[in-house]
Amino acid sequence: MGSLISAFLHRWPIWCEFHWRKEAHSILEQTFSEKEPPSFTSGRSQCTHCNKPLSALELIPIFSFVFLLGKCKHCKTSIGIQYLILELATLIICLPLLLLNLSIFETLFIGLIFCCLLTISVFDFHHQWIPDELNGLLILFSLLLSLESESLLASSVYGMLLGYGGIYVIRFTFLKLRNIEIIGLGDAKLLAGIGAWFGVSAISYILFLASTLGLLAFLFHKNRKIAFGPYLCLSAYIFFWNQFI
Ligand SMILES: [Zn+2]
Repeated sequence: MGSLISAFLHRWPIWCEFHWRKEAHSILEQTFSEKEPPSFTSGRSQCTHCNKPLSALELIPIFSFVFLLGKCKHCKTSIGIQYLILELATLIICLPLLLLNLSIFETLFIGLIFCCLLTISVFDFHHQWIPDELNGLLILFSLLLSLESESLLASSVYGMLLGYGGIYVIRFTFLKLRNIEIIGLGDAKLLAGIGAWFGVSAISYILFLASTLGLLAFLFHKNRKIAFGPYLCLSAYIFFWNQFI
């Protein structure tokens, strides 16, 4: 999953940007001759510098990076340390789930939800944008997790609606009163996913914690423009573990 997340974070923005440029050229009736970059799911993993496809031995998470001493086997260019950090982070975030004695079904889906939160955090931090595909997966995994009982599913659906509605109302109010976009709809969809995971009762706690963390980051940030997604994800992660402590 850590390798998959790395590949997504690297390829998805490049692929989207290519298609936006292509569409813009089409609207302006200009010729567009750039080569399409590989999509997230197509083609084998390759060195981002010399484009040589990577063999199975070069694709073992964490170990390949260590054995290759962080360099491409062919062109000796340094492989970004971010790949190792993401693989380690995925392991550190997901592995403690095994201590909880949950069912295989729960462990699998909560693990997938953790991976979604990690991807969303890094993506939003770098691009201040959360792809709908990631939020969609988060909502899907959260709803599937709640299928265990009817009461859980109802709370999950209400949590999803309240999560989206809560941020939508904040955004709409500021747009009308101050004409500023204080928060994006990506965050609304993210809170919908988190609401679908934990249900209605968790929304206020998570929103309050994320706002407090975001406010602290805002005070120390030079550009005064921060992505809110990572704080929502971190708050959801804290809320999850708080249930067991
Ligand atoms: Zn290379």
